[in-house]
Amino acid sequence: MPSLNDIRSTFLGSFEKNGHKVVESSPLVPRNDPTLMFTNSGMVQFKNCFTGVEKRDYVRATTSQKCVRAGGKHNDLDNVGYTARHHTFFEMLGNFSFGDYFKEGAIPFAWELLTKDFDIPKEKLLVTVYHTDDEAAEIWKKVAGLTDDRIIRIATKDNFWQMGPTGPCGPCTEIFYDHGDHIWGGPPGSAEEDGDRFIEIWNLVFMQNEQFEDGSMRALDMQSIDTGMGLERIGALLQGKHDNYDTDLMRSLIEASAHATSADPDGPGKVHHRVIADHLRSTAFLIADGVMPSNDGRGYVLRRILRRAARHAHMLGAKDPVMHKLVPALVRQMGAAFPELSRAQALIEETLKLEETRFKVTLDRGLKLLDDELSALPDGAELPGAAAFKLYDTYGFPLDLTQDALREKGRTVDTDGFDAAMAEQKAKARAAWSGSGEASDARIWFEIAEAKGVTEFLGYDTETAEGQI
Ligand code: ATP
Ligand code: MG
Ligand code: MG
Ligand code: MG
Repeated sequence: MPSLNDIRSTFLGSFEKNGHKVVESSPLVPRNDPTLMFTNSGMVQFKNCFTGVEKRDYVRATTSQKCVRAGGKHNDLDNVGYTARHHTFFEMLGNFSFGDYFKEGAIPFAWELLTKDFDIPKEKLLVTVYHTDDEAAEIWKKVAGLTDDRIIRIATKDNFWQMGPTGPCGPCTEIFYDHGDHIWGGPPGSAEEDGDRFIEIWNLVFMQNEQFEDGSMRALDMQSIDTGMGLERIGALLQGKHDNYDTDLMRSLIEASAHATSADPDGPGKVHHRVIADHLRSTAFLIADGVMPSNDGRGYVLRRILRRAARHAHMLGAKDPVMHKLVPALVRQMGAAFPELSRAQALIEETLKLEETRFKVTLDRGLKLLDDELSALPDGAELPGAAAFKLYDTYGFPLDLTQDALREKGRTVDTDGFDAAMAEQKAKARAAWSGSGEASDARIWFEIAEAKGVTEFLGYDTETAEGQI
């Protein structure tokens, strides 16, 4: 059975044989790109190659790109723990053509790799195309012999790929694998498409447009190819599994979590182990790429992911911080492919330990408050915004953490009430300052605070140390 490490090598080797330059993954923090929080796909490092702004000494490339989807246009944070196919951190295998081959090249490359190198039975595969893309549909028919019912035309943005609000983009064709009718879900375009029976494994994007901030779009001078296949998804399939979390790599992290918490990996706490394994990868790789926990921007996303993980560890009964103990298992699995992970191991361990230790001070009390609030409410009622705000303000619970905790119980938060409580607190703070006779300092202070969007509380013991604003 090939490991994920083997599959990565097979993929890159196969495209290398076909004249593609093997390029290293770029960091998770995109260079010089304020439009994007984290690298969310393989094309990010090649953005300027598609628009023609940048020329390289190769026109074909292949990568295994580290991706994080935990904010912005592609956000899978809330899917983790609930679907078989989503992570916040994953590797995207890709092949790229910059004005070299187009649809007629990309489709046969993909089909050949899947059905020959990977030996996937053809009858398990089906594809989607953008509804107006007759050309792609024709190529699929010719190259793969797919019948019309297995080439589904989709009119939504699912088949028009965009990295973010701006940048190169284009129609796409997605390749799906049918895991069988014992799993809930329907084919793309059907009412049950969000299920996990038909899993999208590979997306081929026909880069031919550029989107601008004002909503306008231009045709690019050259036609290019950008593809993305989740390593964990193709890995699950090739390992005879349905679920990404059952692959060798994810399973070893789940077992590390089970060992560190003394909680059965397949018992009632199964979902917590899955979330921990996922969040371990995203937090560790973000730290390795220079992100540190903070109260705004990228650092705040990191902090939110880590706090969510800490709550899941708590749910497994962990009394002490857990995440840092899992880092060696991750480095064993991924350190060879990503040396930056091994190099940063000590920093990752220290940072995770410190963050989790600090948050634990308020986590237990916050969860107790949440339980008390819920038991005082009528069955199924929404948690009032004021309570969620108190959890945020006094106990350091980001709103999404509270929502994650409530979702397990089938409950929700009144988010409008939360926003109102937040606005009220800001207004009160402003009034208190302007009454203190230091109006001009206060004005400057608030301008900075608002510009930075910082209001987060770190826990009683860290308030001054970290300079809360
Ligand atoms: P889905 O519809 O399943 O959410 P997507 O269409 O959002 O996937 P793309 O943006 O097309 O995904 O990304 C290219 C490929 O990367 C996908 O075909 C899939 O194999 C993989 N992928 C995307 N998101 C994730 C994720 N959150 N975790 C793991 N793999 C992913
Ligand atoms: Mg998605
Ligand atoms: Mg999709
Ligand atoms: Mg897709």
